[in-house]
Amino acid sequence: MAHDPVVAETVRSADHLEPHFVFEDQEAAADAKLAARGGKRPNVMVVMFDDVGWGDFGCFGGGVAVGAPTPNIDRLARDGLLLTSCYSEPSCTPSRASLMTGRLPMRHGIMRPPMYGEAGGLQGEVTIAQLLSDSGYVTQAVGKWHMGENRDSQPQHVGFDDFYGFLSVSDMYTEWRDPYFFPEIVYSEERTKWLENAPFNKCFVHASRGGDVENVEEVTIPVLTELDDKWCTYSQEFIGRMAEQENPWFLYHCTRGAHYDNYPHPKFLGSSPAKHPYKDTIVELDDIVGRLVQTLEETGQLDDTLIFITSDNGPEMETWPDSAWSPFRSAKGSTWEGGQRVPAVAYWRGTIEPGQASDGIFSLMDLFPTLLRLAGASDSIPSDRYIDAVDQTSFLLSQQGNSNRKFHYYWLGSTFSALRVGEWKFMVASTSDDDRDVHSPGGFTGVTQNYTYSRLYNLYLDPREQHSYMIRKLAYLEIFLSGIGGHLKTFSKFPAKSVLGGVG
Ligand code: CA
Repeated sequence: MAHDPVVAETVRSADHLEPHFVFEDQEAAADAKLAARGGKRPNVMVVMFDDVGWGDFGCFGGGVAVGAPTPNIDRLARDGLLLTSCYSEPSCTPSRASLMTGRLPMRHGIMRPPMYGEAGGLQGEVTIAQLLSDSGYVTQAVGKWHMGENRDSQPQHVGFDDFYGFLSVSDMYTEWRDPYFFPEIVYSEERTKWLENAPFNKCFVHASRGGDVENVEEVTIPVLTELDDKWCTYSQEFIGRMAEQENPWFLYHCTRGAHYDNYPHPKFLGSSPAKHPYKDTIVELDDIVGRLVQTLEETGQLDDTLIFITSDNGPEMETWPDSAWSPFRSAKGSTWEGGQRVPAVAYWRGTIEPGQASDGIFSLMDLFPTLLRLAGASDSIPSDRYIDAVDQTSFLLSQQGNSNRKFHYYWLGSTFSALRVGEWKFMVASTSDDDRDVHSPGGFTGVTQNYTYSRLYNLYLDPREQHSYMIRKLAYLEIFLSGIGGHLKTFSKFPAKSVLGGVG
């Protein structure tokens, strides 16, 4: 009988672990694949784009159709597994910290991005980089970090051997230098001086494990145009060096693009059919994926490397037209599908079956236990805290595998918003995107609404979440309510944490 995630039961293996589906055949198939590698542990390359939309790539219906071809990413999708229901958190930092820790923002406490030198971060958390490093992996972070500029949250203090990138987010380095966006600063000596003296780092940096960051260069607009190119070269050099040594490695490559404001590299300026800076940047990001994969191929490491390509949140619509494309409702900052459904491709030549697509629910934080399983280090998962992530190894590795995750929980800062199971999304609160409530079409400006009664959307019939279907589907109510109840109950034994304020 086919697996039906709506009615199938999960298993909870310990109080601190998220319940998950167990498929014995699928587990055996995954174990057999790993055993066939003779105990050789894979390298892992996570490529994290910034604010790139669910629909931007050709393999998701975008690409040439929206004026920015993405042949390299499309090829990986064709030869790998395309995930149509991969979820991030509603914005950059919460997503990235969830991937790093395997925990929801309500557990790691970073519920919104820190800006302009604000404190916040990963102190007190256990990261995937640290655990992989403890198990013998060489760990490299490149590009955007944005999980706190404070010392204890910097990559070289949370498990990475080396970091080359910037600690914050793209717009913070350049928006106040651009007279189009900030004429009142650019044309004011006093305000320019005030910002120049403000206590946040204006440079991109290099750091080695345990050391202090060293400034590489101040990120002016001309410098910013070349960052993704430079960072790609750095990662290519890392991949090249790694071919010469024994240990497996973890590369966490986070691009600058395509977060606003996009200033494409001169080589890519006007290169997209759309001729728009955002679209030129998408073309550039696709080229970067091509370069990284080619380096893996040339150095003989492609069969030994799991590649996972994704984005950290949905489209930022408050900066349109410098913004991504998604067919879903609302945008970054919200718990509508437009805020949290992100593109994802998993590729591992010879191990992940080619030509697959799945709508099984996958959360970016699921990479935490999944990568540890691949590293043979599942025992290192901390037991003194709740882990919201689910091991998805068998989902990724078996032919047409099922997701091991039953529910996706949507949190709007500290407000519980919704639950997804199967094709259903049961919503109890959200941000309004009604024209009367918002100042612009993005997900950040809507007011938080708690619904008197819940709403229910069928994401297959109604992916844009326009028609609440609850009154016709009350038979499912117990499944939704017990899913939410079970989730919220975990917080009594494992209390929520707040490091950087909730928005709800
Ligand atoms: Ca982002």
